[in-house]
Amino acid sequence: MGIIDPRLMAVIDPVCKMEIDEMAAKFKSEYKGEKYHFCSLSCKKNSMKIQKNILNFIQEENNENCRC
Ligand SMILES: [Zn+2]
Repeated sequence: MGIIDPRLMAVIDPVCKMEIDEMAAKFKSEYKGEKYHFCSLSCKKNSMKIQKNILNFIQEENNENCRC
């Protein structure tokens, strides 16, 4: 044991769309029950400015994943 699949822990920074390790993400935000992880404090601050854009981004992602 001790092997952790990094893909399971990877989250996407919604601001810069960088893939980051959820466990290593120091900058987190919660908005309407959804948790967001950021690579840096500046990204977290940017997310506060563009929260509507983030929600649009999330919805686009969901639409892309759902092919039904
Ligand atoms: Zn970032």
